[in-house]
Formats: sequence, structure tokens, C-alpha cells
Amino acid sequence: MKPQSVIVIGAGIGGITAAIHLARSGLHVTVLEKNAHPGGRCDRLSRSGHHFDTGPTLFVMPLLYETEFRLLGTSMHERLELQRVDPTYHLVFDDGSQLALTSDLKSMHEQLETIQAGSFQGFLRYLQEGEHHYQLVLDTLVNRDFRKASDFFNIQTLAASLRIKPLTHHYRNMSAYFNEAHLKSAFTFQDIYTGLSPFEAPATFSMMPYTELAHGVWYPKGGMYSIVETLMDLARQAGVEFIFNSAVERIEVNATHARGVLLADGSRLDADIVLANADLPYVYQHLLPQDRLVKALARKRFSCSAISFFWGVDKTYEDLGPHTLFLADDYRENFESIDRDLSLPTNPSLYIHAPARLDPSMAPPGQDTLIAIVPVGRLNENGEQKWDELRDKARQHVFRRLRALGITDLEAHIKFEETYTPLAWAKRYNLVNGSTHGLSHRLTQMAYMRPSNRHPHYQNLYFVGASTHPGTGIPTAMVSGRLVSRRIQEEHP
Ligand SMILES: Cc1cc2nc3c(=O)[nH]c(=O)nc-3n(C[C@H](O)[C@H](O)[C@H](O)COP(=O)(O)OP(=O)(O)OC[C@H]3O[C@@H](n4cnc5c(N)ncnc54)[C@H](O)[C@@H]3O)c2cc1C
Repeated sequence: MKPQSVIVIGAGIGGITAAIHLARSGLHVTVLEKNAHPGGRCDRLSRSGHHFDTGPTLFVMPLLYETEFRLLGTSMHERLELQRVDPTYHLVFDDGSQLALTSDLKSMHEQLETIQAGSFQGFLRYLQEGEHHYQLVLDTLVNRDFRKASDFFNIQTLAASLRIKPLTHHYRNMSAYFNEAHLKSAFTFQDIYTGLSPFEAPATFSMMPYTELAHGVWYPKGGMYSIVETLMDLARQAGVEFIFNSAVERIEVNATHARGVLLADGSRLDADIVLANADLPYVYQHLLPQDRLVKALARKRFSCSAISFFWGVDKTYEDLGPHTLFLADDYRENFESIDRDLSLPTNPSLYIHAPARLDPSMAPPGQDTLIAIVPVGRLNENGEQKWDELRDKARQHVFRRLRALGITDLEAHIKFEETYTPLAWAKRYNLVNGSTHGLSHRLTQMAYMRPSNRHPHYQNLYFVGASTHPGTGIPTAMVSGRLVSRRIQEEHP
């Protein structure tokens, strides 16, 4: 029988996108969100005229966004006022040297040759590899779903997959292009966006620096949350119903099907299809009956977490670019202490975002809005990490790093501070282990090996978002929403 109704658990990017597609196909869609507003990890905090994107700050892979908005029946360029950010990042190394990553090849030539003679040619070859990987990954692994083993384990897909260097570690692969350690880190740090260390990530991810420089890093006026606002407009136009402050406590199932959901207030809602956007490991652990799948998921690799600082500042730091990255010389040790020790590195790499450089409305006139993100280990099972202490240490590292740029008085100019530790990530969005990017994208957790968009036993229970296929990131969550809505329609015609 053709389904009539869908319940979506969670109003994250993937959930809203899927809801729009499903409502446009004629289904009655209700989205239940535990928080008071939509967006999930793509969230916003506003205080005293300061606006912070608390999760994503980088609009990358614009071509993917463009396609997904078109498939939602609209135009990205009409809906979002985008400006290109170039240089994309200002990189600062421990010895005080700097590198501004830019698509201006003349500037890259000058900067790279100063760091390592002959490295500009290596850079061009590296970009070529990145382009090759980008195209293959999108066509072969991202823009399609893997419903059965033979969708992945076939000659065509495996042959294409072998051409993206899946078995070579990204960092090791850098020796083919650069000798200089700073350059190796300048073009691999992006792996952290997928929750991976470059010492573990496949060389496939050279696609990220490529797309950032070739297609650009962009910034939507009003910040990243304007993507959520745009999707919400589209959802309301399509007739999607949203219920906020409404936590799902359990998905009600029989042997083969999901029947509906039980809410925290004790009420029940039935639906023909249940689509979970809450992070997949959490759904298995907390909303479904305990079975061997839950244990198998707990053994999977989770991404790192982050300590984030949101500062309203009473003066402007004009010299601070929109995206500044401090990359530590003990680069490997940094990732190991995050991944192995689940802690804060001794000399952490970190990222500072100053959105008012791009959009003055993000701070009151003459003031600044600053975000600092320090990657740290996820929560461990024994709960022994002392997050208050680690947070205070991380804060001091940020001030210390900024001093290298001549910013010595920030602490005295902070009007207010909000911080998120891994405990906050876990609580706010129900992220298992406080892992900001959910399940990591190591080789054995990609494509068909990533948990499927449909539950193996319950035939009308589906998943959308970062820890399912294709994976983490806003545009990827939009792809996930499109793929799963198509699958639902095909499997329940
Ligand atoms: C610090 C940080 C930085 C990032 N930077 C970038 C970036 O620069 N660029 C980029 O593209 N991506 C970035 N990402 C990744 C990106 O934010 C995510 O991959 C994407 O937003 C995930 O969307 P999702 O569809 O998985 O939904 P989620 O964001 O996981 O949303 C799921 C929703 O479900 C709700 N929910 C959970 N449990 C329940 C329940 N029981 N009942 C009801 N509702 C529930 C949650 O409250 C949440 O609203 C970043 C993420 C973080 C955390």
C-alpha cells in the first residue's frame, strides 16, 4: 500500500532536506525536533548583537550545494547571497611563518617557492590529483546509494574506487608532492572535517584542498545559519509540519516494521515511514531495541570532538582574517593525542573564525565576534576526562597563539564567552561520544561499508545525515536527504 505519512526524527540539514523532497512527492511529513529550533549541528547563537555559527563555518563544495538546491526546485544563487572567501585560510606555523591559501596562482607561486624551492610544480600536480579524486568520488561514491553488496562490489565501482588511492595514507602521499613539513600539513589539515587524521585518512581526501581552491570557499550573508533558514522556507512551502521541543524517546517496532514513535511526554505518533535524522549511532543505542547491531556500531570508529569558544569582543581585530589556522609543528603528535589519548594535544593546532570580516552585521559596530575551535578527543567510556581543566588549557592556548599575530589584549576585551566541550555536543544534539562528525570516514566506514540509509530488519525505517551515507558536511547531508527520499519512494511506490 502506498504510504501516506512520514515522521522525521530531527530537524538537522539532512532531515529537513529529506522532508522537503518527500512532501513535494505528496506525502504528509511531520518533523519532530527535540530542540527549540531547527538546524541541528548547523546552529546559531545570538547575543547582544553578536551572531555565531556554532557548528559549520565553511561553505565548501559549492557545486554540490548548487545541484542540491536545484533538485529542491530552487536556485542557490537566488536564495543565498554568497561571497567568495579568498584567501580561503591564513595558516600560521609555530615559527611564526605564514601561508595564505589562495586561488591566485601568482601569489601561491611566490609563497610556495619561498617555503620550498620547486614546490609550486608539486602544488599544481597535487591539485590535478585532487581534481581527479573529486570527480571520481562524487560520481562513484557520493551521488548514489549502496543498497546491496553488489552495488559496491562490482568491477566498475571497485575499479573506480582503486583510482582514488584508498589504500595510501594521505600524509604519506604528500611526499610525492612536497618535502617541507609545513606544506604537507597545509594541504592535509582539511581531513579533520571528516573526523580523520591525515595519518589515517586515505589520500582520496586530496579532493578537499582541490575543491576549496578551485571552486572556492564561500560565505552566505547572515552566516551559515541562513542555509537552515532557506531550507525551512522551502519546507514550509512544501507543507512540512514541524514540532519543536519534542524529543522522541523510542521508535515503536514489530518484527519487521517501525510503527511510529513514543515521545518524551508519553504521547505516541504513528506513521507509515519513520526517517531518523538524529545521529545514527544514537538512534541504534537509544531509540531501538538492543541487539547485536548496537554492539557492532559501538565498535566502529568515531570522529574527534572539539572545544569551541564563542566570544563577544568590545573591539575589532581587523588584522585577523576570516579563517585563521594555527598548525602545530608536532602535527602527527597532535592527531595521535586526539585519537589515541582522547585528549587535548600539548601544543594544539586550532582554528579562529572572524565572521564580521565577511559580514559586518555579525557584530555590533566597532566590535568583534570571534569563534575559536580546538579539536580534541571524543568522550571516553570511563568519563575520566576533566573537561573544565582541558577547556581552560585550550583557552590559554588560543590566547598564546594569537599573541604570535600581535594580538595580546583579547582576554581583556571579551565581553562574554560561551563554550562547548564534547559533553555539550553530546547533550545538545545527541551525538554519541560527543563526536562532532559522528562516525569517521575511514576506509572501512565509507560507501557500502557505512551504515546503510535503511535499517536491515525494519523495512520502513530509514536514516539520513552525517553518520549514514554519504557522510558528514552540510552539502553531503543534503545529498543524503535526496538519496534517502528517492529510496523511500522507490521501495514504497
Ligand atoms: C563544530 C563543527 C564544525 C563543522 N564545520 C563544518 C563546516 O565548516 N562545513 C560543513 O559543511 N560541515 C561542517 N560540519 C558538519 C555539519 O555540521 C554536519 O555534518 C551536518 O550539519 C549534519 O547534519 P545532519 O543531517 O546529520 O543532522 P544533525 O545536525 O545531526 O541534526 C540532527 C537533529 O536531530 C535532533 N535530535 C537528536 N535526537 C533527537 C530525538 N531523540 N528526538 C528529536 N530530535 C532529535 C538533534 O537535536 C538535531 O537537531 C561541522 C560540524 C561541527 C559540529
